[in-house]
Amino acid sequence: MRKLLVMGNWKLNGTKETVSELIKAFAAAADKAGSKAEVAICAPAIFIGQVEALAKGSRLNYGSEDCDIHTKGAFTGENSPAMIKEFGCKYAIVGHSERRGYHKESSGYVAEKFKAAQDNGLVPVLCIGESEADFDAGRTMDVCKEELKAVIDLCGIKAFENAVIAYEPIWAIGTGKTATPEIAEGVHSKIRAYLKTFDAAVADKVQILYGGSCNAKTAPELFKQPDIDGGLIGGASLKVPDFTSIIETAVSLSK
Ligand code: PEP
Repeated sequence: MRKLLVMGNWKLNGTKETVSELIKAFAAAADKAGSKAEVAICAPAIFIGQVEALAKGSRLNYGSEDCDIHTKGAFTGENSPAMIKEFGCKYAIVGHSERRGYHKESSGYVAEKFKAAQDNGLVPVLCIGESEADFDAGRTMDVCKEELKAVIDLCGIKAFENAVIAYEPIWAIGTGKTATPEIAEGVHSKIRAYLKTFDAAVADKVQILYGGSCNAKTAPELFKQPDIDGGLIGGASLKVPDFTSIIETAVSLSK
């Protein structure tokens, strides 16, 4: 049975003070959740050392919001998966739509990031999802398949045995327009069916998170769907009551 995973993505937000307040609260919430749900925070790289110190000894996992494809070298400004791993991260988000969009990251490049993260012992969280124009044109699954296939081609389907997928319709991210549970479940089940065409056991095992204006109000109905295994949460992961409530939802729906 797949566990529900509640993962925050702080994006370009935070101060030393808010990091301290949020991590203390979320570490306590993760401990309270026990084995009933998994909880993680992906933080800006500059705060990861602080997160490591604060989360130590708790059940709260953490990760990076991105990673480079190189282990080391002359790549000014980048953070390598090896560095991220050294600071105790479990996860590395790759292919967030803000990276694909603002930084022009292609699916092939994202696949290389996925591989670099996994090769260095991190669990990649592969973000996929369509724009509003693609949604309106009925191209959601074309986009999702292309973004998944780039990873399957480079890493093989078995790579998803140790990875997480986050389906994040771009039109829902940071807009307050959460996908309905029916729309989200429809896409999640098609993503799983697509993976099944490569390997049924892997498709059955991989956690597929929903992301896009998921909040304390919308999480319960979303998390009840059979193919939604938790959420990747942006804005609501910056607020203690909201994110804690989403963690409690996951605990109450523990599969
Ligand atoms: C995200 O950053 O991945 C995200 C889903 O953001 P939000 O929850 O704010 O829409």
